[in-house]
Parts: sequence; C-alpha cells; structure tokens
Amino acid sequence: MSIRIGILGYGNLGRGVECAIKHNPDLELVAVFTRRAPETVKILTETATVYSVSDAEKMKDKIDVLIICGGSATDLPKQTPEYAKMFNVIDSFDTHARIPEHFDAVDAAAKESGHIGIISVGWDPGMFSLNRLYANAILTNGKDYTFWGKGVSQGHSDAVRRIKGVKDAKQYTIPVEAALEAVRNGENPELTTRQKHTRECFVVAEEGADLAQIENDIKTMPNYFSDYDTTVHFISEEELKRDHSGIPHGGFVIRSGKTGWNNENNHVIEYSLKLDSNPEFTSSVLVAYARAAYRMNKEGQTGAKTVFDVAPAYLSSADGAELRKHLL
Ligand code: NDP
Repeated sequence: MSIRIGILGYGNLGRGVECAIKHNPDLELVAVFTRRAPETVKILTETATVYSVSDAEKMKDKIDVLIICGGSATDLPKQTPEYAKMFNVIDSFDTHARIPEHFDAVDAAAKESGHIGIISVGWDPGMFSLNRLYANAILTNGKDYTFWGKGVSQGHSDAVRRIKGVKDAKQYTIPVEAALEAVRNGENPELTTRQKHTRECFVVAEEGADLAQIENDIKTMPNYFSDYDTTVHFISEEELKRDHSGIPHGGFVIRSGKTGWNNENNHVIEYSLKLDSNPEFTSSVLVAYARAAYRMNKEGQTGAKTVFDVAPAYLSSADGAELRKHLL
C-alpha cells in the first residue's frame, strides 16, 4: 500500500510536491488543502481532491503525512503546530533564527497527539545543514563557509511581498565574488555576513504606495535584510514577469580543515547545488522526508524532529538489503 500524502497550501512548493510525488511510486497524493475557495485551485493529479483547510480534520484518518507548504514568515509558525495535532507533518520553515522556538511549538503539539513533525526540511535549512554537520563531525579542526546564489530566495521574496504597499516582489541573493575566491583558494578568510553576500530586490509597488517607506521597511527587516547591503529597484508588473519569472537557486557548503599531529595536512569538503527550480528541488527533499516521517511514526516515534534526527535509510524507498547491495 502506498503512503498517503496531503498537501497544505498550493503555491510553488505545493505544486512542486505534487510533481515530486509523481516521481515516487510508493507515494500517493490524496488531497490538497487550501485557504482559498477550493474550486479556484486547479491541481494536476486527477485522483486527488482539493478541499478547504476547514475540512482537514475530517481527513485525518485518510492521510499518512501532511506536507505543509505555507510561507515561513507568517504561515508556518501557526500552521505546523496546528496541523501536528491531527497529522504527521513536514515543513520547510527557513527563518533560521526562529527554528528553536518553532521546534518547541511543533514538539509540544506532536507529542500530545502522538504524531511526528519534521521541521525545516529543504536545502537550507535541510541538505546544507546536514552537510555542515557531516563535515564538522569529520573535520573537527576547521572552518565552515556557506555561499548562496546567485538565486531567488523564496523566504525573502515572501517576506518582501508581505510589506504594506508591495504588490509583488523577487529577491536575489548574490555571493561576493572576492570572498568566494578567497575561500576556494584555501585562504580561510574571516568574513562577516555583509562581506559574503549582497541582496537585490525587484519590487512592484501598489498604486500610490510610499516607496521610501517600503525601501526602509525592507532594508531594516530583522533576520532577513538588516545585516546585508540591500539594493531595492521599483519596476513595473510587466518587467517583473518578463525578466524575473524563473526561480533558480543554488550555492555551496565548504569546510576546510587540518589533520596530522602538527596540522600538516589540509582537507576541503564541498557540497554544491545548481538548481533550475528551487521549489521543485525543495519539494523533492520534502517528499523524501515525508516517507521517513511515516516510517518513524509507525515505529512509535513522536514529537518534533529535524533532518539531523532522521537516519538516511528512512529516506529511500529501497529497503536495507537493497541499499547495502547497491549503494555500499
Ligand atoms: P508561495 O508564496 O508560492 O506559497 C505560500 C502560500 O501562499 C501557499 O501555501 C498558498 O496557500 C498561498 N498561495 C499560493 N499561491 C497563491 C495565490 N495565487 N493566491 C493566493 N494565495 C496563494 O510560497 P512558496 O511555496 O514558494 O514557498 C513557501 C515557503 O517555503 C517559503 O516561505 C520559504 O520559507 C520556504 N522554503 C524553504 C526552503 C528550504 O530550503 N528550507 C527552500 C525554498 C522555500 P493557500 O493554498 O492556502 O492559499
């Protein structure tokens, strides 16, 4: 029997999860829940149904894992703890500074209901976090670097779109070339947040909006923009559509470290991603962790987890014997 999946929120990630399920035959999409009128949300899977979020509770015995695809800025802090009361849940919460409090809220709700909630799944946080952990555990005497972009950050675009007077927006994260080069040359430079990346925003403002206020609200936003040099461009809706409709991203995690009695040998570990579609890749990670959530909960595990708590074998559709045969 396949693992029955529900999607909550049908935006970029919601659509990406639907596509990822198509490529994972052991998973089946049962339902999509939306806060909008269900008849206005058109999905691709003929065998699945779109419901209002208010109908979610009625479906709690028909879904094994609910993949929550709301935005990190305001949706997920509410949605994930709320739905962990009814379902095993996965989310992609990416407000790094707030992960501990989000974890605690999901943990309390999931433990009480006997479900599991894997939070902050994706590539960063997610696969990047995991690779940082592996590299740190192995090269204990070393230094970490993470660079992002050039690419569109979903979380940051979402945060800009929620500012008063903003109609639509795209935000690019851009690595500072000189910093990147120094790291790759093994110079182990000390870099501040500001020295590593810049941020560039393309904003479509509502008619009559106060542009100076919007620019100030963006540049001073804590956690998202206040620690970076940010450029804000106001453009038309047509320009945004014509020049900024893709959602590419990527980046790399590097750790360089020394071994040997006198630190005589240097090692560099690098994990890099080049993504045509950030949401489709993130959704592919979410789906693999949904499989893990189902299995871990079946074994009796409950409460909040992160990618650090999930053993790799739980992610694969193959069983242990098959994995040992082909991947070892
Ligand atoms: P979207 O803005 O596309 O979707 C967010 C929510 O908005 C949806 O769940 C949907 O809810 C609602 N929505 C979507 N389209 C419409 C519409 N046309 N009209 C009205 N409402 C709409 O966000 P993304 O899916 O791109 O990203 C979600 C979050 O994922 C981001 O905030 C980011 O933080 C996180 N993320 C994390 C990554 C990681 O590596 N950890 C990587 C990428 C993203 P509803 O159907 O209920 O209306």
